Amino acid sequence: MFKPKAIYFEKEIENYPLGKELMDKYKDIPKIEIENHNAIEEMRKKENKEFGNMKRNLIIGVRKTHKFVENHKVSDYLVPYTSSGCTASCLYCYLVCNYNKCAYLRLFVNREQMLEKIVKTSLKSEKELTFEIGSNSDLILENTITNNLVWTIENFKNTEKGKLTFPTKFDMVEPILPLEHKGKIIVRMSVNPEEIINRVEFGTSRLQGRIEAINKLKEAGYQIGILIAPVIFVENWKELYLQLIQRLESELSSKVKKDVFFEIIFMTYSYVHIKINEEAFPNAIDLYNKDKMTGRGRGKYWYKNEIRQEGEKFFREKMKQYFPNNEIIYIV
Ligand code: SF4
Repeated sequence: MFKPKAIYFEKEIENYPLGKELMDKYKDIPKIEIENHNAIEEMRKKENKEFGNMKRNLIIGVRKTHKFVENHKVSDYLVPYTSSGCTASCLYCYLVCNYNKCAYLRLFVNREQMLEKIVKTSLKSEKELTFEIGSNSDLILENTITNNLVWTIENFKNTEKGKLTFPTKFDMVEPILPLEHKGKIIVRMSVNPEEIINRVEFGTSRLQGRIEAINKLKEAGYQIGILIAPVIFVENWKELYLQLIQRLESELSSKVKKDVFFEIIFMTYSYVHIKINEEAFPNAIDLYNKDKMTGRGRGKYWYKNEIRQEGEKFFREKMKQYFPNNEIIYIV
C-alpha cells in the first residue's frame, strides 16, 4: 500500500467530498499547501536524481482543464480524468514527456464534474462513444488510494450510451470484480516479457499477477484488451517476445482467448528520459540504442524504419500462429 511521504494540496480540495476524505485518510502525513498543482516551485527545482523520491509524495488538486482530445484507436476521445502521473517508475514512461520529472501522482477531487461531462457528451452523440479515461495515469493503481474506479463504474453503469476504457500495468483488480458494470468497461492490460518488466517497469505488478488479473476480469464479465507495450528491441527481443506470446497462449483462460483483442506499440524514448534515468537510476539498463533508434523531432526518438518493419512482421506472424482468431487493432 502506497504511503505518501508528504501531501501537497490545493486549499480548494476541501470543498469536495473526496478532498475531505483524502485529507482525513492522510491526517498523520505532513501537509504542504500549494497554489497550483501544475506549478510547484519546490518540485521544479529538484535535481533529476530526486525523481524516485519525488514520486513518494502525493499531490491533490482540482482539475481545471477538461478538454477531450479525439482519438481513433480503441476510444473516440482521450479524457482528462481523476489523476495524472503515477507512483511507479517505468524507464520509458510516456508521462515523462509531458511532465518531465514532475510525473508524480496527482489526484483530482472534482470527479463528479469530470464524469458528468463524459455522460453528457455520450448522451448527445448519435454514435456509441468510447472514452479513454486512463491515458494520463493508471486507474487500477489510483483506485487503491481513492476508490475512484469503483466510484466511476458504479456511477457510469446506468448511462444509456457509451463505454469507458483504460490501460493498466497493475493487478489489484479485486475491488472492481464484484461490481455490476453492464458491459460498459473495457480493461486493457499492458504486458511485457518478465525480464523486461523486472529490469524496466519498476514498481508495477509482475507478469504473473497481470495474467491472473486478466483471467479474473474476464470471469467478472469485463471486455478485455491486451497491450503488448511498449515493445523494446533489446538484444534477444525475438526470444523474449516469443516466450511472452507462448505464455499468454498457455495461461490465459479460454474465455479470454475467445475474444481478447491486441494492441502492439513499439517504444518511443526521449532526451528527457535519458537525462532523468541516468541520474535517477544509474544502474538501470540504458534503453537508448543509437544504432536502432533515430530522432523524430523535439528530442524524441523511435526505432528506425527497418527495425519497426521487422518487428511488425515478427508480431504478425507469431500472433497468427498463437492467436489466429484474435484481432490486432494496430501495430505502431
Ligand atoms: S505504470 Fe504507466 S504511468 Fe506508471 S510509470 Fe509505468 S508507464 Fe508511467
